[in-house]
Amino acid sequence: MQLIFATNNQHKVDEIQAAIGQHLEVIPLKQAGIDIDIPEPHDTLEANASEKSRTIHQLTGLSCFSEDTGLEVEALNGEPGVKSARYAGEDKAFDKNIEKLLTKLGNSENRRARFRTVISLIWEGKEWLFEGICEGDITREQSGAGGFGYDPVFKPAGSDRTFAEMTMAEKNTISHRKKAADKLVLFLQNQVITTR
Ligand code: IMP
Repeated sequence: MQLIFATNNQHKVDEIQAAIGQHLEVIPLKQAGIDIDIPEPHDTLEANASEKSRTIHQLTGLSCFSEDTGLEVEALNGEPGVKSARYAGEDKAFDKNIEKLLTKLGNSENRRARFRTVISLIWEGKEWLFEGICEGDITREQSGAGGFGYDPVFKPAGSDRTFAEMTMAEKNTISHRKKAADKLVLFLQNQVITTR
């Protein structure tokens, strides 16, 4: 079974495909022959995820899914949140975003943060949302070269390493994206079992 994933972010494709395993083949936009950068204009992860999946559904008429993820830092009242990609500017530069985050957080003792992923699935014309959360802390310095985005400064709860110091397989045992993907897979398995 194949499902279009409304993204151009190869990191996300790799992580979601690894999380889903062989249950279904994830087809990113480029591979589906769709060359667009879907805007994320809304102020919630849910609304942005919906925008992306609905846009692709309208274009193709096919079942598809999208995801939107934000890093929510407690001491910054949930920032960068839905603005995570463009926190330091429209160029979506990971290093500048991290620099801004560490500067704003300063010496704050409260470093609690969480990643939250929302997946929007359009399945046979109807929309379903799935959420995955990973709690953790923002480190004072960057460490590790793996992953992407804020991974070098995010240490998941119970770990002594940042996401960037883990292999993708390790990150995928606990990540926000994996938790949301598990719910997606469970839903699809139930659909296939009950309707086929
Ligand atoms: P979006 O879902 O593409 O809007 O992602 C927002 C931003 O959050 C990305 O540009 C990354 O900077 C960051 N981000 C999303 N997922 C992760 C992750 O798993 N690790 C680290 N940063 C992430």
